[in-house]
Amino acid sequence: MTGVELAIHGGKPVRDTYLPYGKQTIDEEDIQTVINVLESDYLTTGPSIKSFEDKIAQYVEAKYAVAFSNGTAALHAACFAAGINRGDEVITTPITFVATANCVLYQGGKPVFADIDQNTYNINPLCIEKLITKNTKAIIPVDFTGQPVDLDKILDIAKRHNLIVIEDAAHSFGAEYKGKKIGALSDMTMFSFHPVKHITTGEGGIITTNNEKYYQRLIQFRSHGITKNPMHMTTSDEPWYYEMQFLGYNYRMTDIQAALGLSQLNKTGYFLARRRQLAKMYDETFKNISEVVTPYQLPECHSSWHLYILRLNLNKLRVGRKEIYQALLQENIGVNVHYIPVYYQPYYQELGYDKSFCPQAEKLYEEMITLPLFPGMNEKDVEDVVTAVQKVVKYYGK
Ligand SMILES: *Cc1c(COP(=O)(O)O)cnc(C)c1O
Repeated sequence: MTGVELAIHGGKPVRDTYLPYGKQTIDEEDIQTVINVLESDYLTTGPSIKSFEDKIAQYVEAKYAVAFSNGTAALHAACFAAGINRGDEVITTPITFVATANCVLYQGGKPVFADIDQNTYNINPLCIEKLITKNTKAIIPVDFTGQPVDLDKILDIAKRHNLIVIEDAAHSFGAEYKGKKIGALSDMTMFSFHPVKHITTGEGGIITTNNEKYYQRLIQFRSHGITKNPMHMTTSDEPWYYEMQFLGYNYRMTDIQAALGLSQLNKTGYFLARRRQLAKMYDETFKNISEVVTPYQLPECHSSWHLYILRLNLNKLRVGRKEIYQALLQENIGVNVHYIPVYYQPYYQELGYDKSFCPQAEKLYEEMITLPLFPGMNEKDVEDVVTAVQKVVKYYGK
């Protein structure tokens, strides 16, 4: 929505131009780096891939990193590497993007949704434990909004029940859990490089791990299940020989993407600092407004602030989330909702998921709104969001 039509709740919109909820930051260095690859010998399967993987592994202090065409492909590969198969159950959160659960379905497994903690909005370890059966194979926790999940508890549950932990860290690149970077704490960790995420490659994803066996399987899965390593083949008499040993996919990242990622990586420190600064500015004003609840922060952790979510205090408002959402849109504030509980989706409903399985997640879903947050926002943008929220909650307040 653009233009200056009158907002239904009165007056001229706070902004003349639309402010999106997320956006990439691309500079001259990024552009030049991509051009250099276009002029080089390799557009794919070239040297930029390994450099990018090495740099990411180094950044998160993991032994290995395997890049993929997107984060969803990376999650699929991780499910394969973890050995998830027909009949296996995998516990995850309903407050996530559908990709988190879909990757389990790709492998013929069954996503099982555990409810969230009402303060952190992350998966609740107590709820995980209650859902474990003899078929449970893995847990896919999501560091929702960039705030790490309670890894000590989740890893302890996994250890006691012999489960694999695949951390969906699409939101938490650069986040820290008790002094350690997210990326080497779970068995495998996935990062996404979609344009709204912390750094972008256009489309892209990566798995980081300390496990050599997973590393080998991820590499092979990314390229049709093919190996050219004579050590791993059943025979190697012919010099042209390669071997397809299982059904893999073409999930490779291009060198064009990897080069952009390398250039973006140089700016991670700035991106993170800026996101934290902006979130703090939001926090400081919104904590004084009784109609909204600001995000709770886990002690000893540093969120990477992918999303800033306001929870509405519906007891203090005359209307529901939908009206507040629409009113903010009319102010040209690009609000969003992250996420519709996965099992509400028609596809999941057809699979037979109960629509009242996770009451905390469902309650949160009725009350949350994502506000714009990305490094390219300036102080005036933040002020506009704050002014619009103040105006709207005042208008609709009790
Ligand atoms: C972005 C995202 C993904 C998938 O990443 P793509 O790179 O878009 O495939 C998975 N999980 C979560 C929570 C995400 O936000």
